[in-house]
Amino acid sequence: MYLADTHVHSIFSFDGEQTMESVLKKAIYLKLKYIAFTEHVDMDKINLRQAINRYKVYEEEVNSLQEKYPNIKIIKGMEFSNPEKYKTELIEFNKLNLDYIIGSNHIFPKEFSKEGILNYYKNILESVKFGYFDTLGHIDYIKKFYDDSFITNDIYEEIFYYMIKNNISLEINTSAKRRIKTNTFPNEKVINLYKGCGGKTVTFGSDAHRLNELYDNVENNSDKYNLVKGIYLNRKFKYIK
Ligand SMILES: [Zn+2]
Ligand SMILES: [Zn+2]
Repeated sequence: MYLADTHVHSIFSFDGEQTMESVLKKAIYLKLKYIAFTEHVDMDKINLRQAINRYKVYEEEVNSLQEKYPNIKIIKGMEFSNPEKYKTELIEFNKLNLDYIIGSNHIFPKEFSKEGILNYYKNILESVKFGYFDTLGHIDYIKKFYDDSFITNDIYEEIFYYMIKNNISLEINTSAKRRIKTNTFPNEKVINLYKGCGGKTVTFGSDAHRLNELYDNVENNSDKYNLVKGIYLNRKFKYIK
């Protein structure tokens, strides 16, 4: 069983409502072995120095909690928004003592337009071409706002080609169930497309911002796909059962 949650926000994220310690206690109760705090880094909101300072405070907190709770491994992570727009900043974060970076596109068109939605995927393509992160977060999160069913397989296939080339895993983000009443970002069809392209490695994350969302919908999905499931430590993929 996949006893990990690789996408969790605490109060270190602007929209996180839970302290790290409360998350850890819940995670231990759930018998999880790994928990990744993937706090938002949005370079359109703060400058690099502020972001790095904030990371240092976060790191100290993780270190002291790790000492207090040795039976669960805390993965030092971040969810870096739009790598394709903040390449030099992302390179700076790659110099820090991090375990794990999720790259996520958080820029959505203000209203439905095919061009805007296509651009959303083009930005993702640019980010995976660039690399410097470990997992592509919630690839089709745009479904939360718009119907993107006109997007053709070749768009996903090009993204997957560069992910595999640059050793980027696919995140299976289980928050879709509570956000849009589907199962995961991405859906089964896109996950199978990833497999068909030769994609193997995946991470599972609940994208919890509140305590009751931790590990939500992970367990029943992690046994569903014949893929290589894992977590990241020291920026390296580690297979877990
Ligand atoms: Zn996100
Ligand atoms: Zn998130």
